[in-house]
Amino acid sequence: MEQVKIRWLGHAAFEIQGQGSDILIDPWLTNPLSPVRPEEVKPDYIVVTHDHNDHLGEAIEISKRTGAPIISVYELANYISEKGGKSIGMNIGGPLVLKNNLYVYLTQAFHSSTHGSPTGAIININGLSIYHAGDTGLFGDMKLIGEVYSPDVALLPIGGFFTMNPEQAAVAVQLISPRYAIPMHYNTFDIIKQDPSIFAEKVKKLRPSTEVLILKPGESRDLS
Ligand code: ZN
Repeated sequence: MEQVKIRWLGHAAFEIQGQGSDILIDPWLTNPLSPVRPEEVKPDYIVVTHDHNDHLGEAIEISKRTGAPIISVYELANYISEKGGKSIGMNIGGPLVLKNNLYVYLTQAFHSSTHGSPTGAIININGLSIYHAGDTGLFGDMKLIGEVYSPDVALLPIGGFFTMNPEQAAVAVQLISPRYAIPMHYNTFDIIKQDPSIFAEKVKKLRPSTEVLILKPGESRDLS
């Protein structure tokens, strides 16, 4: 099976490449850890989990420049259209079929937002199921997300304060049962400062069969 490249761009921003497509998630690329500038990226699709500035980021300007549609919850998609971005409004459920072997589902997230519900997203690409949890607290239906979408990879916020902290995110891993877990949404600013090795240690105790991949900003993994 063709490999899928998952690259962390700092904070909650990821670039996923596979199936001939480049997908950006939550492209706040002016975040202090980002290895790329917004004007350097050329995505085919953009997924935005909710409208907070650290997630919507520069999505609209990237969409205007490249023509890449922004996939989000319906009310946020309307807002993006009003601002001149190209948007695809969907909702929790799905899927949105983008092409053969590339589809997107939105999931529930326990958080807040101004335009529509906050969400997580499942990107299913080349048979690899990637769960980006968005900003969320811990919730029991992560177990259902694990059962329904069988994520191979879970991208989980561990920064605390606004989202799960390392201990809570380790319980999330136990509920979701992915093959790999990648921590995100930490160390961008002081209030979400965390040591990701604490997350890795807790996961080792609660769910030893999941491998925690701690990426540096700009670093990527090829998975299949
Ligand atoms: Zn948020």
